[in-house]
Amino acid sequence: MNILLMGPQGSGKGTLGNKIARDFGLVPVSTGDLFRQSIAKGEKLGLEAKTYMDKGLLVPIELTLGILADRLKQPDCQKGVMFDGFPRSIEQAEALKKITDIDHVILLDVPKETCIQRMIGRRVCSCCGAIFNVETYGSEDCDKCGGKLVQRDDDKLDAIKTRLEVYEKTTAPLIDFYADRVFVVKGQEDPEDTYRPVNDFLKGLKK
Ligand code: ADP
Ligand code: ZN
Repeated sequence: MNILLMGPQGSGKGTLGNKIARDFGLVPVSTGDLFRQSIAKGEKLGLEAKTYMDKGLLVPIELTLGILADRLKQPDCQKGVMFDGFPRSIEQAEALKKITDIDHVILLDVPKETCIQRMIGRRVCSCCGAIFNVETYGSEDCDKCGGKLVQRDDDKLDAIKTRLEVYEKTTAPLIDFYADRVFVVKGQEDPEDTYRPVNDFLKGLKK
């Protein structure tokens, strides 16, 4: 089973995705994370992608498909993938169709204002990637590994606005593209409340 997790930036996809992947044995595949790993390794592909990412623009499709296809070839992906951040356009969805199928789309519905607030306050551990928010977390160090918390380059206000515009214009049309397999869940304050209906839905499928 392959699942696509959709929702605007800052909607809480990361938190929800971790729970889904954990409980349903899916491998989380995030093109954003793949790019950031490539940047951290100093690879040419990553550094090229970074010039787009820092502005909040989509990375060109050849680079994105390349990094994704490599990841999907790894043996662990055979048991099922939870796609996060790919596809992000009709063009990418058409390309993915030639490689594998998306069985279900979970759409996380969160108001734009909430998304913007969350992204502005978001901090990421520079060592383990854990995510925190300055609203709810007072320390500058990660409570999991002690690493320094940093702000992503694309979590600055200009890039945030561009990213949300790109989402509305280029990514949201996928909701119609996948209309026959979309499950919509409203984001709640407590992540467990957001997860419950999704968990019920996915469990129901297994019967
Ligand atoms: P967010 O969705 O919060 O912007 P991601 O980590 O998913 O963060 O992606 C970060 C950046 O990586 C995007 O703004 C974009 O530049 C690039 N990116 C990720 N996925 C894709 C994709 N499917 N197509 C093109 N660019 C992508
Ligand atoms: Zn950490």
